[in-house]
Amino acid sequence: MTTTDDRPATVPHWIAGAPYRSTDASQSEVVDPATGHVLSSVELGSPAVIDAAVMAAQAASGAWASTPAPVRAATLHRFRALMIDHTEELAAIVTSEQGKTLADARGEVARSVEAVEVAISVVQHLKGEYSDQVSTGIDTYSFRQAIGVCIGITPFNFPIMVPVSMFAAAIACGNTFVLKPSERVPTASVRIAQLLSESGLPDGVFNVVHGDVDAVNALIDHPDVAAVSFVGSTPVAREIYRRSADAGKKVQALGGANNHMVVMPDADLDAAADALASAAYGAAGQRCMAVPVVVAVGSIADDLVARTAQRAAAFTVGPGDDEDSDMGPLISEAAADRVKSALETASSQGASIVVDGRANVPATGYFVGPSLVDNVTVDSDIYQQEVFGPVLSVLRADDLDMALRIVNASPYGNGATIFTTSGVAGRKFSHHVQAGSVGINVPIPVPISWFGFGGWGDSRFGDDGLNYDAYRFYTKAKVVTQRWIEPKSGISPNFVAAKHQ
Ligand code: NAD
Repeated sequence: MTTTDDRPATVPHWIAGAPYRSTDASQSEVVDPATGHVLSSVELGSPAVIDAAVMAAQAASGAWASTPAPVRAATLHRFRALMIDHTEELAAIVTSEQGKTLADARGEVARSVEAVEVAISVVQHLKGEYSDQVSTGIDTYSFRQAIGVCIGITPFNFPIMVPVSMFAAAIACGNTFVLKPSERVPTASVRIAQLLSESGLPDGVFNVVHGDVDAVNALIDHPDVAAVSFVGSTPVAREIYRRSADAGKKVQALGGANNHMVVMPDADLDAAADALASAAYGAAGQRCMAVPVVVAVGSIADDLVARTAQRAAAFTVGPGDDEDSDMGPLISEAAADRVKSALETASSQGASIVVDGRANVPATGYFVGPSLVDNVTVDSDIYQQEVFGPVLSVLRADDLDMALRIVNASPYGNGATIFTTSGVAGRKFSHHVQAGSVGINVPIPVPISWFGFGGWGDSRFGDDGLNYDAYRFYTKAKVVTQRWIEPKSGISPNFVAAKHQ
């Protein structure tokens, strides 16, 4: 098992099937957020490193695209098996750098395995369609082909799942890939690269470069890069989308979120409070599908707040590698300070702090405990910003229509969920809510990978999502019209069409 003791002092890049170190690279520290201790450092890729990675991907591109699809799929099958075998090791790496609990990190690996399975299966969609005899002796068919070198830029909160949901589909479809993971959680990507190599993936098909904004810009601007996938915060997503589109690249950029749960008066309040506590405080609120806002409808608001407060107070906050912890630290000191300052501002703007996560947390590391803030208004700072921490804000609404107006006025549209025992309310909510992933009586409505994933509004720029949707993004369609009979006539200057009687 890889632990903090046997990790390399410097996390290398991974280029052309081997670790890659550069002598001129600047470095950034990788910190254990549960202790504040430096675990290692990571090289920040210079333009020369970025070029080397893209060149390796470009060099591998033709042969991999020509590799029969079942052979590509078999490679990913072996990778899937290795991921399962290495679940404990991968989870430990995630926990040590990201901070989430081991149980949560194991769940991340399991969802990543699911994404690989779906990537293998979506390859069947490359087969396209066929129309026989569209004119005399002429058939037309379509199929999809790989697009070349794809890049992925990923956030700190899912060091394995988000990269896998990009590269597995890209590789399955015959592309090569350069991943630029978050420089705060770099180690898992390199371990994944090793496992892909062990699975028999040819050198250069999957590469990892570390870095910050400069590395990202160099990747986007590289003339040999065909497509850009991004997941991260909304301001960066918007900029990546603009820059990639300006450069004529295919681009999908998934951004931040502020997901709402609506709780109706007829809901099972214990089930709703359980769901709120897990969705708001799990992973310290650092999930794009976390629920930081609840809209309590009608007279149940006080009761719901009381039941949720009980659960928040019962959370065990501690290091992610302590099996007793329900919740780990925030990713950095700056993130913890941001959450504390959001609570302070909320209080000064008239909200009531029902459970205060600033109290009773471990003295070292970047911890803030579960926090519950009541009487929040839509114009307050805590509602307007993406807090991305273990804070649940409570808003109140008179009825479902008012709740829907609140939810739909949010610029984000990643996810939304409702708790109710009324099919009518559930159906109305799912039909009218402006969000990409919708839940009814489930806390975090991340769909199984057989469906596409991606938000609406400021939560996604670009059309295609991840997982099931990804084969469309990572391929381009070609339509072929063919004739194999001797032409009966000579030049035809017009469109050819079937004769209608
Ligand atoms: P981030 O936007 O700070 O960073 C994401 C990636 O972009 C990292 O690899 C980082 O190195 C790079 N980056 C940072 N600033 C950049 C810049 N100015 N130009 C180019 N690249 C830059 O996000 P984060 O803090 O790592 O992750 C948390 C955010 O990600 C939250 O907003 C969360 O909601 C969002 N997120 C969204 C989804 C989704 O599916 N929509 C999933 C996970 C996380």
